[in-house]
Amino acid sequence: MIRPNSAKAFEEAKKVIPGGVNSPVRAFSAMGTHPVFFKEAKGSKFTDVDGNEYIDYVGSWGPLILGHSHPEVVAAIKEYADKGTSYGAPTELETEMAKLVIDILPSVEMVRMVSSGTEAVMSALRLARGYTKRNKIIKFEGCFHGHADSMLIKAGSGVATLGLPNSPGVPESVATHTLTVPYNDEESLKLAFEKYGDDIAGVILEPVAGNMGLVTPKPGYLEFIRKITKDYGALLIFDEVMCGFRVHYNGAQALYNIDPDITCLGKVIGGGMPVGAYAGKREIMEHIAPAGTIYQAGTLSGNPLAMIAGYTTLKILGQPGVFEGLVEKTKRLATGIEKNAKDLGIPYYADQLGSMFCLYFNENEVYDYQTAAKSDLERFAKYYRNLLEEGVYIAPSQFESCFMSTVHSDEDIDRTIEATYNAMKRL
Ligand code: PMP
Repeated sequence: MIRPNSAKAFEEAKKVIPGGVNSPVRAFSAMGTHPVFFKEAKGSKFTDVDGNEYIDYVGSWGPLILGHSHPEVVAAIKEYADKGTSYGAPTELETEMAKLVIDILPSVEMVRMVSSGTEAVMSALRLARGYTKRNKIIKFEGCFHGHADSMLIKAGSGVATLGLPNSPGVPESVATHTLTVPYNDEESLKLAFEKYGDDIAGVILEPVAGNMGLVTPKPGYLEFIRKITKDYGALLIFDEVMCGFRVHYNGAQALYNIDPDITCLGKVIGGGMPVGAYAGKREIMEHIAPAGTIYQAGTLSGNPLAMIAGYTTLKILGQPGVFEGLVEKTKRLATGIEKNAKDLGIPYYADQLGSMFCLYFNENEVYDYQTAAKSDLERFAKYYRNLLEEGVYIAPSQFESCFMSTVHSDEDIDRTIEATYNAMKRL
């Protein structure tokens, strides 16, 4: 499969956009090829500017759980666009959306809408600090929480892919307030609390980590974090921007039965439009302005097109059997890919949860960033390029999860299993 138009488009983009892209991982820097430029997408498939078709398992990095341009979501956006694209004033739809999120996520009593996951996290951290009157935040190596200054410390996703886990431009005075510990390691977290407990405002984590591949919490680990945060008077912040509505319709918090104080949301909640949210206990959320004194605002927050896209997506996803069907498909594909690796004698470690799945070129168990980083990254890059030739599009990094949508067909899955076999055979 040749992509001359993509190559040309990338050269043109690089003249006017830093690195040619508006978000770093899209540049495919670590994959040894130029990015694919797309012109349209429908359902489970993408078409690039050279006319090649791909089965998509990126889903815009998670949001498109119903696939591209879902007819009902598109119809809802069109209907609302006719009535105005932005009001900068309250609408009843925002209340409906908040009520829906409260219904879905067990820990949530109030919701504030923002426009990205980064904004949700940044605001949640300010809330945790303002509420507890403490400074420090604990995060986990390899978890990614967007690009707010204090979260670009030992982060996952693109910063791990590009080898820039501690970004220049983050002042030392900010970085000192972020403590990092390895994921799935109780002892390190305990030591951090013993040393800094009085000044720890909160612990933020992806309860299922999708930014170092796919790493699930060990049994009892989330319970341990909930207990230690409570014991020290720190808030527990679940960043469900990626795993929310993906590992379970009611969030990772329902799957593991954990009651976080604050939850960050994004991706699926916007149904493909720019949306984020932070949500949590009334007693904490009422500290946000104008109910309280902790300030956070947004010109486009609660934007009607974004709200209706997210609302429609969540409603469809909540219909009986829809989520179960999605998980079934994901299992079938993940099992098929794993079997290919096994049959071909390729060392691998694989995980799957809900609609997320990942295969590492790694013979050992992956349970944190250090173990994920031991994967054979060159082999992944080659596999990636082979898969592109096969017409299958996954995230261009070993440190990302793959995402299934409700509209991937049985045929898509069969074809993908065959494509991954061919891609592995040519390694
Ligand atoms: N938190 C998590 C867990 C994420 O995966 C991401 C994005 N991949 C973010 C926060 C940031 O979201 P956004 O890109 O919408 O700012």
